[in-house]
Amino acid sequence: MGKLTSPSTIKYIMAKYDFKFSKGLGQNFLINDMVVSDIVEGAEINENDCILEIGPGIGVMTYEMASRADKVTAIEIDNYLLPVLDETLADFDNITIVNNDVLKVDLRKLIDEHFSGKPPKVVANLPYYITTPIVMKLLEDELPISDIVVMVQKEVADRMMAKPRTKAYGALSVAVQYYSEPEIVTVVPPSSFMPQPKVASSVIRLKVRPSDLELLDKKTFFNTIKDAFSKRRKTLLNALSSGIMKVSKDDLKIAFEKSGVDGGRRGETLTIDEFALLANTIVEVTK
Ligand code: SAM
Repeated sequence: MGKLTSPSTIKYIMAKYDFKFSKGLGQNFLINDMVVSDIVEGAEINENDCILEIGPGIGVMTYEMASRADKVTAIEIDNYLLPVLDETLADFDNITIVNNDVLKVDLRKLIDEHFSGKPPKVVANLPYYITTPIVMKLLEDELPISDIVVMVQKEVADRMMAKPRTKAYGALSVAVQYYSEPEIVTVVPPSSFMPQPKVASSVIRLKVRPSDLELLDKKTFFNTIKDAFSKRRKTLLNALSSGIMKVSKDDLKIAFEKSGVDGGRRGETLTIDEFALLANTIVEVTK
């Protein structure tokens, strides 16, 4: 079999295994060696590393990572790819394929069982239809993960990186920046994939670290953010008083007063620190 990034190899595999790309499963396979190296190098993989991959496809990244890492576990939903992976990754004895839906797997248990508790790096070219739920599952559950290096739509990576007072700044920016330090590794054009997606992609690295923000109640913090951004055009006072948090306007007015955050501002102008301050004050006022 030829190089896994070669379109002729992919066509050969498709014919041999009667495999068809599933648009619904976000199957856009990498056909650019340079991008595969950028991702693997962006993750700084060494021989002691444990890697968790999501969506190995035909194993193009899995192959490179297994050559460098101690162990790779890859979660793939598509049964039709299992015999393909058996062949493409036959040279390795440090790869385990888990045939499951990443959103349904108990990742904490999987990490414990596969890596004996050693925090893995998550490295993946993510299926785009569920990028945000996957990243949020990895971050929100506070799993033992040391690093996340993933390919996502460029527009989603830009939202993860966005700062206040920009159009891209939203609940995803705050959540990602609360749990990690994001940095763009590289931007990837549609021509690096087969079939080609409609939009550009970015490889983004999220260095997971404990936040230095002190939150009295994490749920109130995230609900405040959700409410503030679900009605972006409203003032904070109006957005929060009609949101999921169910805090009365009177209590909110007191919280704005006490925290010094102006309720007439829009959510998109608040820094993460200001969201934390406001949420902590809401907790104090409503207890
Ligand atoms: N890693 C390969 C590459 O770079 O060429 C394939 C990447 S492709 C963008 C996304 C992969 O995720 C596909 O193999 C797809 O079948 C798999 N996938 C889609 N939804 C999934 C899910 N819910 N759980 C696990 N894998 C999934």
